[in-house]
Amino acid sequence: ILYNEVIELKGNIRVFCRCRPLSQVEISNGSSSVVEFDSSQDAELQIISSDSSKKQFKFDHVFRPEDGQDIVFARTKPIVTSVLDGYNVCIFAHGQTGTGKTFTMEGTPENRGVNYKTLEELFRIAGERGGVMKYELFVSMMEVYNEKIRDLLGENSNQPTKRLDIKQAADGTQEVPGVVEASVYNTEEVWELLKSGNKVRSVGATNANEMSSRSHCLLRVTVRGTNLMNGQKTRSHLWLVDLAGSERVGKIEVEGERLKESQFINKSLSALGDVISALASKTSHIPYRNSKLTHMLQSSLGGDCKTVMFVQISPSSLDLGETLCSLNFASRVR
Ligand code: ADP
Ligand code: MG
Repeated sequence: ILYNEVIELKGNIRVFCRCRPLSQVEISNGSSSVVEFDSSQDAELQIISSDSSKKQFKFDHVFRPEDGQDIVFARTKPIVTSVLDGYNVCIFAHGQTGTGKTFTMEGTPENRGVNYKTLEELFRIAGERGGVMKYELFVSMMEVYNEKIRDLLGENSNQPTKRLDIKQAADGTQEVPGVVEASVYNTEEVWELLKSGNKVRSVGATNANEMSSRSHCLLRVTVRGTNLMNGQKTRSHLWLVDLAGSERVGKIEVEGERLKESQFINKSLSALGDVISALASKTSHIPYRNSKLTHMLQSSLGGDCKTVMFVQISPSSLDLGETLCSLNFASRVR
């Protein structure tokens, strides 16, 4: 095979932990960091509890507060670009609200994240391979909120909300019939699409950040390749998923709409944890059907698909409880 990149894989699932820096507010509040990094080890970290006891966690890689977007992308790149070789790939950002999930995936205009850098790299490699492979790239953007799937590219102010569902295709793969698949030719087009999708996402929410913390945002890149030598065609999916905030809701909030939202979030995040840990332990029954999220991703999780889970954490002593929850979740899927 001409272009298959060789990737060293211990398995097809990688878990990366990323710790954001203390924010200005946290610094001025006098909150300290409870995360310690080992100077000689880039796969371990320790959490110091209030009683000074330490708990160690091990991952495939640990990104520190000073590690920028390029360092993070350098580790992610070989996995995401394997979509051009016909692999299905899923990248997730998991963690409490405010820990940098959106920063890692979307980034900011000055500090673009995995989504943008990935598309840039896919276009670059596709161009390089132009003499041998013809590639077409399509982008879809969906949101899962309270177990309902919404098309973020299929709406505008004149159109009613479009509900999507999951269907099994004749070949056994999971499809989302009717979802908009926008044909894209360069990164600027993709950036514009993401902006318009994000606008749709926050409509109806009291504030944009609140909505984004209560729903999962899924960006799907479909790659159709034709080998110009032998005419062989491939189709593969890359999913870039910014998950809903994993924080447990406070007792005061636990009623009405908020309670319902939280139950849906808990259910889908634990379903995702169950699927990934079942895959990691090579169990034969993988419980994909327990949530819309895992059901939709079924054909892209497991088998020879590649998966990366970013576990995002805050260094602040005030977030210690949630940080331990996230790290424990991650240890379960590893
Ligand atoms: P989440 O999506 O998990 O709720 P955000 O991505 O919105 O969190 O991040 C919260 C804030 O922290 C944002 O202002 C973001 O720019 C900042 N931030 C997160 N991670 C980093 C990082 N690694 N370096 C610098 N700033 C960060
Ligand atoms: Mg976010």
